[in-house]
Amino acid sequence: MARYIVLLGPPGAGKGTQAEIISEKLGLAHISSGDIFRENLKAQTELGQLAQGYMNRGELVPDDVTIAMIRERLQRPDCAEGALLDGFPRTPKQADALAAMLSETDSSVDCVPYISVPAPILVERLSGRWTCRAEGHIYHTTFNPPVQPGICDVDGSELYQRDDDKPETVSRRIDVYMEQTAPLIDYYRQRGLLAEIDGQQSIDEVTGQLLAAILKGQA
Ligand code: ADP
Ligand code: ADP
Repeated sequence: MARYIVLLGPPGAGKGTQAEIISEKLGLAHISSGDIFRENLKAQTELGQLAQGYMNRGELVPDDVTIAMIRERLQRPDCAEGALLDGFPRTPKQADALAAMLSETDSSVDCVPYISVPAPILVERLSGRWTCRAEGHIYHTTFNPPVQPGICDVDGSELYQRDDDKPETVSRRIDVYMEQTAPLIDYYRQRGLLAEIDGQQSIDEVTGQLLAAILKGQA
């Protein structure tokens, strides 16, 4: 039976960092909607061009476009055993669409770890975030620095600061999260799937609690 895990949390909570570690440990495909949009932007596809304006303003790409993109991604062979979703769903409409998509193969979301971190800390995290050009590996100048400044430990590619990690865009993204994504906390709590995790611990501690929550959800 395929397993689907949704990582929930505000921008900067540590979803991408944890998804990288946990997807490997669990042998699940890591699907980051933000990474897929950024790849499309880089390749200047039609989807990338459409998403660009929304991303630069710190707003959400429209639901229908995002849902179609994830539907296509989940049908690829590497998702046969399930997936770890990072950054999707971000609205109740996306969450309903995900449930409908998974029900087509008699599957459902198994567990929704919610990484909670207060807003002032998010700003500090996003302003120091450096991302790898090749594959999106994530670093922080203070909290998780690369061995060599500016170079990815994993693949040696260049690290850059995302355009939407500028302070003005960060505050817009946090507002958008509060308005459009935070309702998913109750959405999944009501369905008995939510596992709240304190995201203000070290990366290792958060990983330990996430794995415990996911494995408990399976028992
Ligand atoms: P998200 O995907 O939720 O936006 P990221 O995983 O990109 O979050 O993390 C945001 C920033 O915070 C990155 O610079 C990352 O290195 C850093 N970070 C992630 N987890 C922690 C943590 N537990 N403590 C301190 N910094 C962290
Ligand atoms: P973060 O890691 O900081 O949470 P992401 O990389 O997940 O940010 O997302 C970057 C941007 O991509 C978002 O601000 C938004 O414009 C777009 N995006 C990503 N996922 C979604 C989604 N599920 N729905 C709509 N827009 C999305």
